[in-house]
Amino acid sequence: MIKNIFAFTLSAIILIIIAIALYWQHTEPIPVVIQAGHEGRENGNTGAVSHGTQEVEWNTIVADKIAKKLQSWGIETKRVGATTRPLKAKIAVAIHFDGAQIPCSSGASVGYPNKESQKLANKWKALYKKYFPFHWQKDNFTKNLSNYYAYYTIKAEKFLVLELGEITCKKERRWLKPRLKKIANLIAATIATEFGLHPHINLK
Ligand SMILES: [Zn+2]
Repeated sequence: MIKNIFAFTLSAIILIIIAIALYWQHTEPIPVVIQAGHEGRENGNTGAVSHGTQEVEWNTIVADKIAKKLQSWGIETKRVGATTRPLKAKIAVAIHFDGAQIPCSSGASVGYPNKESQKLANKWKALYKKYFPFHWQKDNFTKNLSNYYAYYTIKAEKFLVLELGEITCKKERRWLKPRLKKIANLIAATIATEFGLHPHINLK
C-alpha cells in the first residue's frame, strides 16, 4: 500500500514536471520585459538611497515611461518589479541607478549575460555616451551586473541591466533628476531599433 502511494506520487510529480517543461517550451517570448530594479522589495536589496533620493522611485518612473513609449509604438511590453514569475522574453531591460561608498566613484554602467546582449549594450552606450556627461564603468564591473539574479527568472534572448548614473554623487543626481523621462525615451528608442523602428529622440 505504502509502496503504491509512493509510486503514484512519484509518477504524478514526473508528469507535472513534464507538463511544465512542455508548457515552457511552447510559450512564446514576450517581445519586451522592462523591470524596475528593487520595485516591491521590502527587505534585502531595496536599492540605493541618498539625500532623500530613492533609487527605486527613479527606477519606477523610468521603467513606466519606457513601457508606455514602447506600447505607443505598437511594441508589446510587460512591466515587472524586482520579483516575477518565470518569463521568456526577446528583450529584457532592468533599470537601476547606482550608489557608491565613495561619492562620484561609480557613474553609469551596463551588465549583460551573453554576446547577443553585448551588441545591444553597445548600441545603448553609443547613444547614452553622447548625452550622459559623467564617468562610465567597464561593462559587467560587478557581480550584480555580470550575474544578475533575474537572468535566471527572465529568460531573454538579450538582457541588459542598466545603471543609468550614480545617485550618491551630488552633481550626477542633480543632472539626472530633471532628465529621467528623456533618458527613458532614449532607452525606448534603443529597444525600438531591435524591432525595425527608428524613432527620432531629441537630445536637447
Ligand atoms: Zn539598483
